Amino acid sequence: MPDPTHSAESQTMTNTSGDVPAIEFRDVTKRFGDNVVLDGLNFSVPQGQRITLIGPSGSGKTTILRLLMTLEELSGGLILIDGDPYTHEYKGEKWVAVPEKRRRVVRNRVGMVFQQFNLFPNMTVLENIIESPVHVLGKSKAEAIADAERLLEKVGMSEKRDFNTNQLSGGQQQRVAIARALAMDPEILLLDEVTSALDPEIVADVLDVLREIAETTDITMLLVTHEMQFAREVSDRVLMFDKGQIVEEADPETMFTNPSHERTKEFLKAVL
Ligand code: ADP
Repeated sequence: MPDPTHSAESQTMTNTSGDVPAIEFRDVTKRFGDNVVLDGLNFSVPQGQRITLIGPSGSGKTTILRLLMTLEELSGGLILIDGDPYTHEYKGEKWVAVPEKRRRVVRNRVGMVFQQFNLFPNMTVLENIIESPVHVLGKSKAEAIADAERLLEKVGMSEKRDFNTNQLSGGQQQRVAIARALAMDPEILLLDEVTSALDPEIVADVLDVLREIAETTDITMLLVTHEMQFAREVSDRVLMFDKGQIVEEADPETMFTNPSHERTKEFLKAVL
């Protein structure tokens, strides 16, 4: 359960003000058994910003994204999306879980692209992209197809529209996965090491697609990546994690050229 030290007033933010962060973690704790992966984590992502999480393997970066997709349950603390309680809310003088129906509405504002693509098997490219807009958002099939075709154009995959996804290369599957996430019109896009499973020569194609999305939309993005040059180009801010804690937070220029924390220097020396 959340730490009830926060005032009830702090839970009444609305999403009408531009000052409300797109994402806010308050005192978030996540344990797997005895393993405390996140320990009282606080951070927020302003609307429209691109934030990159860096840090050694096992430092809790993917867990943060999975909590935001409600693929994991919190052990403590709160997550708010656009100021709306996402996990727990203060009601009748006690903390209660946000009802699943309302949580789903908020979750639909969040899209995620995974390292291993996670496309629906035995479906065509087009079917993958229209599935959720039709079945979750209730779009008409014609509208969903028109949107999907526009997105396939954007990610350079129009010619593969009717291919089964198992006929595609890794890079092509990842471009379809990006189009599928965008088809849900997310306000927030989570990108979890989306190029790590790809052959080096196609990494650049996928990064080009993401760069264009960053340049042409105002979607809030939270990225976990080992592509430091890409992180440097597209991020507004970089957070360095170690053992579930933020050890340093800076603009990309400072983080990559003049980090102040020893742990960051050590990490960057190993990966750059
Ligand atoms: P990162 O993305 O920084 O590599 P993760 O968030 O994937 O780190 O993992 C953080 C820690 O949580 C690791 O110690 C990992 O073993 C543990 N962990 C992640 N997912 C699970 C799970 N489903 N069950 C048990 N432990 C997990």
